[in-house]
Amino acid sequence: MASALEKLLLKKLKVIPNFPKKGIQFQDIFSLVSDPTCQKKIVEKIAGYARKNSITKIAGIEARGFIFGSLVAYKLNIPFVPIRKKGKLPGKVNKIKYKLEYGFDQIEMQDGSLKKQDKVLIVDDLIATGGTALASSKLISKMGVKSIFFAFVINLYNLRGVRLLEKNKYSYMSIIDAEG
Ligand code: AMP
Repeated sequence: MASALEKLLLKKLKVIPNFPKKGIQFQDIFSLVSDPTCQKKIVEKIAGYARKNSITKIAGIEARGFIFGSLVAYKLNIPFVPIRKKGKLPGKVNKIKYKLEYGFDQIEMQDGSLKKQDKVLIVDDLIATGGTALASSKLISKMGVKSIFFAFVINLYNLRGVRLLEKNKYSYMSIIDAEG
């Protein structure tokens, strides 16, 4: 049974067919952040999950993970650190390459942005195939962190990204399920 929050978000969420290319059902998260009630309830839900798991740092995935990640970090008064695409962060960075449907991508984090004993919550607006989320966790593991969790607003359940996280024994939360 869908909760009141799920019903509210599903009602407000705009889905744009065939954007940015044919066949993609684009989940327009901005239709949720532009509504202060939805925004607040999403942040409270993720913050509750973070509190329950004694999270010490929020890592937001570029770019829409920055929005929810920063809001949650502010709410909990804990640090926010960015996971960015190649070449955007100054100074020494830790990096990992990962496979896309066509070709490769690379994500990076600033060296020293995490400590080994941190409990890190990786935040993104949405999980689809799970490739970006899993690469983020691999990068964070490479930096020595043992305790990693995930939070998403939307799970595109037919793309089975959360199965990938489950296979790798990660805990995660998502608020609504949608078809991608
Ligand atoms: P994936 O690595 O396949 O799990 O893709 C997740 C990333 O791609 C997230 O950062 C999303 O912001 C973005 N994304 C993938 N599919 C969609 C979609 N249908 N609507 C909106 N964003 C999407």
